[in-house]
Amino acid sequence: MDERTPLLNNHPQFSISTINHRRTRGENDFQTPVSGKVNTAPQDDNNAEVINSETFNNIRRDVEGHHAVQPKNVHIEQGHILKVGFQSLDYEISDNQIYQNEEKEKSFKRWKLYWRGVKRWIICFLIGVFTGLTAGFIDFGVEKISEVKFQTVKIWVDKCVLDNCMYLPQIFWFLINMCLVLVGSFLTTYFEPVSAGSGIPQIKCYLNGVIVPHVVRFKTLVIKVIGVLSAVAGGLAVGKEGPMIHSGAVIAAGISQGRTTSLGWDFKIFQEFRSDTEKRDFVSAGAAAGVAAAFGAPVGGVLFSLEEGASFWNQSLVWRIFFASIISTMTLNIVQGIIKQHAMDFSYPGLINFGTFDDVRYEFYELFIVICLGAIGGLLGALFNHINLKLTVFRMKYVQRKWQKVLETMMVAMYTAAFAYIIIFYKNDCKPIENDAETTLVQFFCQDGQYSSTARLFFDTPEATVKHLFHNVPGTYQVVTLTIFASGYFLLACWTYGLSIPSGLFIPSLLIGAAWGRIAGILLSGLPGLKKVNLSFYSLVGASSMLGGIVRMTISLTVIIMEATSNVPLGFPVMLSLIVAKWVGDQFNEGIYDLHIHLQGVPILGWEPLPLSSNLNAKTVMSHPVIVFRMKEPVERIVKILKEEEHNGFPVVEDYDPDHPEMADGCQTFGTFKGLILRSHLITMLKKKLFLENPEINKIVNNLKMSEFNESYPRYTGIQRISISPEEKHYTMDLAPFINQSHFVVLETASYSSIFRKFRSLGLRHMVVINFRNQVIGIVTRKDLARFMTECKNGEISIQEKP
Ligand code: ATP
Repeated sequence: MDERTPLLNNHPQFSISTINHRRTRGENDFQTPVSGKVNTAPQDDNNAEVINSETFNNIRRDVEGHHAVQPKNVHIEQGHILKVGFQSLDYEISDNQIYQNEEKEKSFKRWKLYWRGVKRWIICFLIGVFTGLTAGFIDFGVEKISEVKFQTVKIWVDKCVLDNCMYLPQIFWFLINMCLVLVGSFLTTYFEPVSAGSGIPQIKCYLNGVIVPHVVRFKTLVIKVIGVLSAVAGGLAVGKEGPMIHSGAVIAAGISQGRTTSLGWDFKIFQEFRSDTEKRDFVSAGAAAGVAAAFGAPVGGVLFSLEEGASFWNQSLVWRIFFASIISTMTLNIVQGIIKQHAMDFSYPGLINFGTFDDVRYEFYELFIVICLGAIGGLLGALFNHINLKLTVFRMKYVQRKWQKVLETMMVAMYTAAFAYIIIFYKNDCKPIENDAETTLVQFFCQDGQYSSTARLFFDTPEATVKHLFHNVPGTYQVVTLTIFASGYFLLACWTYGLSIPSGLFIPSLLIGAAWGRIAGILLSGLPGLKKVNLSFYSLVGASSMLGGIVRMTISLTVIIMEATSNVPLGFPVMLSLIVAKWVGDQFNEGIYDLHIHLQGVPILGWEPLPLSSNLNAKTVMSHPVIVFRMKEPVERIVKILKEEEHNGFPVVEDYDPDHPEMADGCQTFGTFKGLILRSHLITMLKKKLFLENPEINKIVNNLKMSEFNESYPRYTGIQRISISPEEKHYTMDLAPFINQSHFVVLETASYSSIFRKFRSLGLRHMVVINFRNQVIGIVTRKDLARFMTECKNGEISIQEKP
């Protein structure tokens, strides 16, 4: 007998192949559909008997084993592999008796509810303040370190031009960059690898409901800040804006919980917000505050949270998120004003300042050119993502050891410095110095009274270079210089994103786009018949197209750019370029963040269910058999199951005898559904010895508070650390007061798409599948939903299961 359950559908336009459950004794559990009809449900066949009790790992092993039916002619990228290790956040309130009793009591103390609301605003205020302060610190640090670095090299360049010792500043430049990058990379690799990159994919996962270990820890924040300082100041092709979003999220998670578990500090405040649901809302606010500080764009911050992650919105939450964003830019404004000695100027709302575009105008016909530039941005973005994907897969295979990661980062740092130096050497592009006050102009190999415009592209922070590209007068850069810069920086940024060091992608994308946008403007200005071409306009459109082509965000980026340029009329061409870039890019691959998320095998759920997934039903998707508990369960069985299985939720049932399984409609059933109990609650019950044999049990249960179940949140005690005496093993626990009575269930015939929508919109962790008699027959978690994917082959769409 074949132990697999292949489920193949040979419909001409639609086929499904899944391997869902492992059967041991049943045959024909799933029928092969008659042609032209999709049928994935178990057959109503009395031959189909017991389905073996296997965990997800066993199922995976089975899938990976030689018996598994692999989808034919389908090339499965590494990114399609779903990892089992990720856990979900629990957004559902456990509606058990303890909770209900507590809520009844609350209705008599209404002031407590108001106070709770006020505290939420206080937390958002603090999130804004601390995010703004962190941004100010990063900016100040980068400015100072870069200033010292560039001034040192400049002095040596000026000296060596005369003394003919140009190798010396080169060596200095290399050494300073390498030392800086070494610090950031070493700390990231050896102490907190999750600090690497921009952190946006991880925050996206978190807001989607997946726990990425260590992602919102204090240690992560510290290393992120130090790392980004060293990466940006060390001259890598990175920005500090993306990491700001991650930093804001960590700050929010820490403040809202009133403690840091990394340092072991507990301020004993905000304890009522120690749950995944509350924390998620504050993390959304933190991410928004991060964007607001990065770009001086509070509305863009709110929209970023909306577009990129937060699945759960209500009016008051949006209002609080906006409040945190405004406070964040305001704080940064004040801090920057003080640092730059214009305390009440309030003209530094973000880490990056695009400068004023007040004089920038465009004609109607230029919108068609914008569409073309958007398409180029989409194509280049798709190419960027493709190369980066291949590189990341290569890294996952061959750059696994920590020292290798640090070494690679150092190599990139060295190459970046060499790249700049070589370009300056071969393409000096001298221009007369018109403003002596500018300190970043370097003579290099130019005549006295001239500066190297190529060197100018590198001898400043990337943010300042973006601004130069936007606003420098026509004639500042030659097309050849810009072409070499844009193409070289494209490859550099591609190589850099994914290194073991904090790094943002916004600024490199803007830089590349601004450079080729400017080239487009210069070329267009040479065309006969075109009226005055505004280079700032084309640089901006190029920058937005490139960014849109890589990250594929539209709403938030449009608003971010509008706010950063303080120019509403430019919003339309920017939006047009972003939409076209996204549309074109999407024809080839996903946005860079989604690619990285899928490469990591995170079971993230998209906005919409897969196309054609309505043809799959609950029975196809669910796990079966289910591990359930009865209302009164021996302690020994509970401990045994918790030790053997890693599941976090268990249906609680009545009328079930594990030794005498029942069948209904050809499928094993597991008793009548009563509710669901969480692993963490079971462990707390064992810890508190809530056994029926305890004479005080009723009194203890009546006095229990929900907060007692949350004491060790978010790092719950493991079952191995609970000591149960041999005598206690024979006791019994009554699960009734602890089960979530309003847990979501779904009928076996429900479609995948409706299950998916409920999971996504309600932030569920488990969904129990029942039959028409209210008997449990299966369970669905996000991993069950995320393991399907669509493949398009020769114009035919099919749904496949990930390996
Ligand atoms: P999460 O990891 O999302 O926090 P979880 O740990 O309870 O939740 P998963 O790790 O997603 O569950 O489960 C892995 C697989 O085990 C899934 O296929 C799921 O359907 C299955 N599963 C989960 N709970 C049970 C259970 N009580 N009995 C049997 N199978 C289960």
